[in-house]
Amino acid sequence: MTEGNRLKSLSEDAGGPADRAAALRRVAQEASTCTRCRLATGRTNVVFGAGDPQAALMFVGEGPGEQEDLQGLPFVGRSGQLLNRLMLEELGIKREDCYIANAVKCRPPGNRDPEADEVAACRPYLEAQLELINPKVVVTLGNFATRALLGTEQPISRLRGRAYRFREGYLVPTFHPSAALRGGPVVVAQMRADFVRAKQALQASAPVDGTGEPQPLTMRLL
Ligand code: SF4
Repeated sequence: MTEGNRLKSLSEDAGGPADRAAALRRVAQEASTCTRCRLATGRTNVVFGAGDPQAALMFVGEGPGEQEDLQGLPFVGRSGQLLNRLMLEELGIKREDCYIANAVKCRPPGNRDPEADEVAACRPYLEAQLELINPKVVVTLGNFATRALLGTEQPISRLRGRAYRFREGYLVPTFHPSAALRGGPVVVAQMRADFVRAKQALQASAPVDGTGEPQPLTMRLL
């Protein structure tokens, strides 16, 4: 059985929320010693992901930076501060209310872009996270996560601005926060619009009650 298939079967065997959270911890434990690609050689920590394992909303970024590598947590540097701010201001949530992961779990040296084979090698971990967390809405941050999950080579500047059907919910692409830090107010405003789109997607994904009105997925989210 391939590594990807083994992780997939682990995800499929998981039952209720407690089982799924436990299965997610087992996958994280496995990833912590992973040597499936060359990024293993330069890392300090594997940055598997963080947040609520039952979150309705999941962010997927590119890969860990310096601070993330040192702390073993995703989005804890300047990009993370911007992400936290936009989450709170546009979605009304804190980072512990969602789940945050990356396309590759180990830091590319010198913050270079991840190579295609590295993204592919790490993909089973991302697939296991999607399967076990089962978010209603996935917000991809930047080119690498968006292209990987939508299966396209189009740039983020063309892909953002709409929501895509994804799994049983939606995928909303937006810029990586580091691009917003470089690009200034115009890019931040576009990210804000995408976060509003993600909020609408969460509302659209919510179960419908007898009145036909969409119901909030959780009171924290909406
Ligand atoms: S980036 Fe992913 S596949 Fe590569 S060594 Fe790290 S955990 Fe393993």
